[in-house]
Amino acid sequence: MKKSLLSLVSLTIILLLVGGSVFAGGSAEGDKPAAKQFVTIGTGGVTGVYYPTGGAISKMVNKKSDEYNLKATVESTGGSVYNVNAIMSGDLEFGIVQSDRQYQAYEGLAEWEGKPQEDLRAVFSIHPESISVLATDDSGIDSLMDMKGKVINIGNPGSGQRGNAIDAFTAFGMDYEKDFKAEGLQAAEAAGALQDGQIDAYFYTVGHPNGSFKEATAGAKKAHFVNITGAEVDALIEMLPYYAHSTIAIKDYPNASNTSDVSTFGVKATLCTSASVSDEVVYAITKEVFENFEDFKKLHPAYATLEKTDLLAGLSAPIHPGAMKYYEEAGLK
Ligand code: GLU
Repeated sequence: MKKSLLSLVSLTIILLLVGGSVFAGGSAEGDKPAAKQFVTIGTGGVTGVYYPTGGAISKMVNKKSDEYNLKATVESTGGSVYNVNAIMSGDLEFGIVQSDRQYQAYEGLAEWEGKPQEDLRAVFSIHPESISVLATDDSGIDSLMDMKGKVINIGNPGSGQRGNAIDAFTAFGMDYEKDFKAEGLQAAEAAGALQDGQIDAYFYTVGHPNGSFKEATAGAKKAHFVNITGAEVDALIEMLPYYAHSTIAIKDYPNASNTSDVSTFGVKATLCTSASVSDEVVYAITKEVFENFEDFKKLHPAYATLEKTDLLAGLSAPIHPGAMKYYEEAGLK
């Protein structure tokens, strides 16, 4: 009796081991990779929207971590430009990247002048981002032209906003290297620097509402958003198709001094990866975000008005085949 129980136990163990190795080999399950795969999503500063967005995407896929044999983690980074470069070097598997930066990297423009990032791949778009400028009330800044002689944070070199700020100044005939003192602070430091009086204003290309502008408008120093409008902006949008008019809803920032919504221009946040990341991994992430879209939308107020079809707009690098497999299955492409 004891003996047969023992052999039953060992038979079960053998079966489990064999079963386990079949699963591990991937042949029985097809899509399931051999060993647990870990992927990292590069985001931005912790007070932005990329960081919680990376968290929201990982949350969706990690719910099925065992099924996919996949675990996603999030990293706070310097922003879009940093993320593209880290994806291309293999340091990150995924990154959130402004739509304009995705275009420039793939085409070999701006920071990537003459060096097209041909292996960059698009997965999906996420929330809209506005080129946003917040200035202290005592700076007297009400337009970009008022920034002459002031101290302005245009963003760190790895950020998306730095190039947007330079584009905006160029459109208004200003030189960021001469007309004012340009700072290169990281996004997460900007709100504190504004309240401490180290800078008069800062640029941030970001979704709304976000922690940075909440923090910067909650301090003792009163601050307001600056409109970026006019024929110069219209011409910029005409010339560079990844830009579009956009509005910042002032109800998101009850402590800002503005009395009405703010007009500016904007881009989209997108999820990017590399051609060398496997189809299975990209498929899993795409599928989980799309199939749980209503839950995903609840994870940040910046996604409030998103529709599934918005997620396929604003992609300029080729769509990764793993994502495309899901779009075809779901009848979205
Ligand atoms: N758009 C910014 C960048 O590319 C990041 C915004 C955010 O973190 O939400 O650097």
